[in-house]
Amino acid sequence: MTDTLHIGQPPIPVRLRRSARARRFSLRISNADGSVSLTLPKRSSKRAAMAFAAGQEAWLRRNLDKRPAQIELRYGSCLPFDGSPVVLQPGQGRSVKLENDRLSVPGLEIELGPRLRGFLKVAARERMAVAAEHYAKTLGQRVSRITIRDTRSRWGSCTSEGNLMFSWRLVMAPRLVQDYVAAHEVCHLIEMNHSPTYWSLVEEVFPGYQIQRKWLKANGAELHRFRF
Ligand SMILES: [Zn+2]
Repeated sequence: MTDTLHIGQPPIPVRLRRSARARRFSLRISNADGSVSLTLPKRSSKRAAMAFAAGQEAWLRRNLDKRPAQIELRYGSCLPFDGSPVVLQPGQGRSVKLENDRLSVPGLEIELGPRLRGFLKVAARERMAVAAEHYAKTLGQRVSRITIRDTRSRWGSCTSEGNLMFSWRLVMAPRLVQDYVAAHEVCHLIEMNHSPTYWSLVEEVFPGYQIQRKWLKANGAELHRFRF
């Protein structure tokens, strides 16, 4: 069960995370969605947590205000697709169509978000599957299953069974960034860590990966601003 505190007025929700390893309180604002969490030692009381969080209210408000606002999508809005901006416009027929820098979305404007999400998910799956297969083949590895999700804290993951997961928001990033994330996860099929050996493997299959990695660090949060 998760416990949530509310600090100040208007209230800021703060999710409590008890941790056996935590030695002190630590307050964190998620880069991805701006949610606030407080990690506390297992035996600390809720009252102590409340007092700690209340003492940080000014800091919290200051940093929450600095966060970029969410982007609501409408016809006429601009969205990155494979790293290039496309403009959303009303569409005919049943499916979402991409023509040059225009993305035609049929249906009502209020359904724009869910429809786009569906379209982006399919496109992301296609791209990530092709890229993952390519790197798996290069490394003589096998990918079992690919899942596409809307994850907040990571762009991809890899299990020891060979299952890969990717965020569909990657389809908004440039193709090379998508390829890098695919290569990154496929390399984990061999090295389940981020050791120097692991990174030299990444360098081998994706020379110059540092550029794409930097791109994600600098622009990743931007991809999470869009509300679908
Ligand atoms: Zn990794």
